[in-house]
Amino acid sequence: MAETIFSKIIRKEIPAAIVYENETVLAFRDINPAAPTHILVVPKIEIAKVTDLNGKEHGALLGEMIDVANAIAKQEGIAEKGFRLVFNCGDDGGQEVYHLHMHLLGGRKMNWPPG
Ligand code: AMP
Repeated sequence: MAETIFSKIIRKEIPAAIVYENETVLAFRDINPAAPTHILVVPKIEIAKVTDLNGKEHGALLGEMIDVANAIAKQEGIAEKGFRLVFNCGDDGGQEVYHLHMHLLGGRKMNWPPG
């Protein structure tokens, strides 16, 4: 896959407001927030999109991304009231950056259905 801006953020070649990091996952604030809390949880390995995932190979990684999102939601004080986790996949899904990431959105009441 072609490298994206997220690989440069992961390598610290360009700055981001990092809120969490471990060996496999980096989480940073979205540059164009759609909610008071809008954080991207990004695996460090380069996977382009959800359709490149399978449960057998990536189950542990996906579980870790959920653990990280839950920890950040607590840290941000939004765990109690709730939040939304989103993967956009492909053009119709609204994906702009083709490096897998999960949006953590909270701090306001979310609308349904999404746009
Ligand atoms: P998606 O549409 O699901 O691919 O989401 C990509 C997200 O990445 C958008 O919400 C962008 O605002 C965000 N984004 C793009 N560039 C950066 C950056 N340099 N730092 C933080 N967030 C970014």
